[in-house]
Parts: sequence; C-alpha cells; structure tokens
Amino acid sequence: MATTADSSLTFARTPHPAPTAVDVRDAVLADPGFGRAFTDHMVEIDYTEGKGWHSARVVPYGPIPLDPAAAVLHYAQEIFEGLKAYRNADGGISLFRPEANAERFNASARRLAMPELPAELFIEAVRQQVMADKDWFPTVEGGSMYLRPFMFASEAFLGVRPAKEYKFLVIASPAGNYFKSGAPAVSIWVSDYTRAAPGGTGAAKCGGNYAASLVPTAEAFARGHDQVLFLDAAEHKWVEELGGMNLFFVFDDGSILTPELTGTILPGITRSSLLQLAREEGLTVREGRYSLDQWQADAASGKLLETFACGTAAVVTPVGKVASQTGEFAIGSGGPGQLTQKLRQKLVGIQRGEIADTHGWVKRIA
Ligand SMILES: *Cc1c(COP(=O)(O)O)cnc(C)c1O
Repeated sequence: MATTADSSLTFARTPHPAPTAVDVRDAVLADPGFGRAFTDHMVEIDYTEGKGWHSARVVPYGPIPLDPAAAVLHYAQEIFEGLKAYRNADGGISLFRPEANAERFNASARRLAMPELPAELFIEAVRQQVMADKDWFPTVEGGSMYLRPFMFASEAFLGVRPAKEYKFLVIASPAGNYFKSGAPAVSIWVSDYTRAAPGGTGAAKCGGNYAASLVPTAEAFARGHDQVLFLDAAEHKWVEELGGMNLFFVFDDGSILTPELTGTILPGITRSSLLQLAREEGLTVREGRYSLDQWQADAASGKLLETFACGTAAVVTPVGKVASQTGEFAIGSGGPGQLTQKLRQKLVGIQRGEIADTHGWVKRIA
C-alpha cells in the first residue's frame, strides 16, 4: 500500500486530567514487573484511505472506542513493535535503534496489507510518548520504559479485504528485569506445534503469530518449562526460535551460530546487535541451520558450550535445559555461560549509555 502519510504531523496534546498520584506511581516504579502497569498518556494517530495519516495526538491513557465490526476483531489485521527508552546516569533519555523498529514495523505492515508509517513519524510518536510520561522511569536497577507501538484495522466491515481505516498507537509500561532473579538459565520445551511456515507471516511482528503460539506456550508452562521453542514447519528438524526470542549457540572453537533469517524467523534487533558485537569480539559468526539432534549431540560432546535467547524485553537469557517428546538434555553447567554474560553486559552497557556507542545505535531524545 502506498505511503500517503505526512511525516510532519503536529501532535495535539490533552494532558491527563487526573494523573496517577505520586505515591502510587512511586510504588509502581520501585517494583514495576513487566507489562503490568501503564503510564498516564498514550499516542494515537488515525489513518483513512485517501487521506493518509492524520489527527496525531497525545491523550490520557484509556480505553479505545471500537466498532464491534472492526476488521481487527475478525481477521486479526494487527502488528506491533517493542523497544525501550533508558534514563541515563546524566539524566538524559535515549532510545535504542528506533530506526530499526520503524523499518521492521513497515515490513510487517506490508506483509499484513496495512499502510506504512513514515519512519520519522514512528520515531516522533515514540518520542512524544516518552516525553509525556518522562517521570515514569523505574527506580529499580536495570529498569527502563518499555514502549509498545502498534497498529490495527479499525474499519467496520466484514468483507474480506485489506481495511481502509487504521489506528496507530503507542503505549508505555515501566519495566523492571524481565526475569525476577536477573538472568537465570531458562528451561525450554521443544513444541510439536509449528509457529511459522514458508510463505507465512513468521517474519512479521503480528499478534496472529502470538495467538498461534499460546497453546504451545501453555503446554510448556504446564510441563514446568519457561519458554517454548519452535522447529521448522517443513522437516520439523531445524531450530528456529522461541515464541518471542531469537537463539544463539556458542561453540568451543570460538564460533557463534544463530539460525539464518529464512522468512519464518522474526528478524530481532537484539539478534542483529549481538551478531555485530560478537564479530567485534573476534568470534567467528555464522548464520545457518542447526538441527535439534546436532544441538543435543554437541551439548553431550562438550562442543557446544552455551546457548542463549535474546530479545528486547529480556535482552539476553541463558538456556540451561532443553526438553522434547524424545527426552531432555542440559547445556553447560546449567547457568549463564561466560560469553553469554560478556555479550549481555556489553549490549546493556551500550543501551544504558555506560559503554561508548560506536555504532550510532543510541538515539538521545532528551
Ligand atoms: C520481537 C520478537 C523477537 C525479538 O526481537 P527484538 O527486536 O530483539 O526485540 C524475536 N522473536 C519474535 C517472535 C518476536 O516477536
């Protein structure tokens, strides 16, 4: 769909008439958890075919009126992004690679037959959201403001075709550490279900992918595991990714491997950042196929030293155990490996402005 948007929209502002009381907010910020609490404002922009993007505004956080026939409720035309804002030691505020989120958002939009949003408008909307609620940064160690830009089809129409009206919103949620005890090694369940097939929507960040992953996720939880892992749809052999995180494998010869982007894997921004950092550490970096059987054999022989998952919410998470219908195996000592910790510290340090950003990844917004 053509981009008819005007990237120089100005944002109308309606401050919240009764913002969260300071003591209530302080309690949230001292122990925010993940995705539980939301700030006082949200950004909203409307799209109408023929008119493009319009009516950009910052409004009080709250319910959105929706027609019961809105296309998203019936045919799931919805995409989203996830990124974080950080409060630096000097009081400034920065985003991590928001251009990459904007670009991926538009790739998702194209796959779901939705209108693109100019990258500058996407970033400005995120900036407006952060600045409206800049007093909502967690006070806990490792805290950040998690931002959730998303778009859905709002047109009231039950015929099956791409909708002609959409809403784009940004909401914000103060976030602590994703995992309560820092970064413990997680246990993974290899699902028999498929997340994405060739030609499907696996590379798009859309709600529909998550809807399809909930039964396997619930199954993993019921079996006592933390996350679900999906294999490829065609051969049910090659490791693809977790429900919402990409995977990396670390070997004893100083190489590191991650499944290649074949169209069924979500191209993570954390993944791409870690590939770059690993190269700079002098590691041999490979993007390729890795089978579940080989993974198990390499873990047993000691050739495989570490495995970790990565994504914006949890950044880097060590994998300690893998289980499937055919048995289970442990990785390394079951705790976080050396390289996993090194890469995690490097990336988190750059994101928080504690390590020099030599890549132009950090975008200062205040
Ligand atoms: C968002 C997401 C990731 C991680 O992407 P990041 O940009 O690193 O946050 C990985 N897999 C899936 C399925 C995702 O939705």
